[in-house]
Amino acid sequence: MSDPRAGQLVLVTTPIGNARDITLRGLDLLREADVLVAEDTRSLRRLMDIHGVPVGGRPLLAYHDHSGAKMRDKVLSHLALGALVVYASEAGTPLIADPGYDLVQVARAAGHGVTSAPGPSAAVTALSIAGLPTDRFFFEGFMPSAKGARRKVLQSLVAVPGTLIFYESPKRLEKSLGDMAEILGEDRAAVVARELTKRFEEIRAGTLAELCRLVAETPPKGEIVILVGPAPARNISPEEITRMLTAALASQSAKDAVAEVTAATGAPRRQVYKQALAILGKS
Ligand code: SAM
Repeated sequence: MSDPRAGQLVLVTTPIGNARDITLRGLDLLREADVLVAEDTRSLRRLMDIHGVPVGGRPLLAYHDHSGAKMRDKVLSHLALGALVVYASEAGTPLIADPGYDLVQVARAAGHGVTSAPGPSAAVTALSIAGLPTDRFFFEGFMPSAKGARRKVLQSLVAVPGTLIFYESPKRLEKSLGDMAEILGEDRAAVVARELTKRFEEIRAGTLAELCRLVAETPPKGEIVILVGPAPARNISPEEITRMLTAALASQSAKDAVAEVTAATGAPRRQVYKQALAILGKS
């Protein structure tokens, strides 16, 4: 019987700091792959070395979305020949603020199976230990480094009714926290999670204003995730919700209109839904 993994692309998640966070299945796949593809071939080699998995004579290809169609064609031709191809990014889950999106797209479009050996991602690791609400969250990843563009992104996130998650470099942390305090609100609860799973792992929690002061006094080094608690529900009148719903219902489905107005106002979804039914004469 033929190996069901032949001609498959498998995304293997690698550790975000502690090399022992590779999964047993991830190691099996690194051992058994016919072709290895990595965002950073040196760090994949190092990880495999630590775990005693030799690369041997197997192809180890460097891939970025920018390495372009040529490298994707190469991977596709291996898949077409029935190779088990494993792809890993430098750290954490591939495609999460990392390359691989175009590769997954073309592999799927060409009819190849694409699956995953999951593992850590800094965003979810930070969220799970931050002590901020986890029921709804919004991953922004890296914000633009230009101040104007960064502030525009933050303005679009003001009313998101869930915890916001950002990746940030230590160099830009102070400026980003300053913009967040100004635009999202000084009193919003926030966390700076640093060096997760590593020796100097640290969680600093406080309001955005407090974190700005703390970071200015003792600038942190290393890898950083910023989390900001959900927007406080605005005190919005039922009449205002009806007005917004009427406008939204003119151009979209009831489901989308309810989702949009719930997100924009922070009002309970059930209340917005009930008012939408009343407008549509279905209550
Ligand atoms: N694919 C990765 C993932 O699944 O989390 C993210 C890759 S992205 C290029 C790298 C950024 O993730 C870092 O700049 C930092 O913001 C965050 N990050 C990665 N590892 C981290 C860690 N151990 N502690 C805190 N943040 C981390």
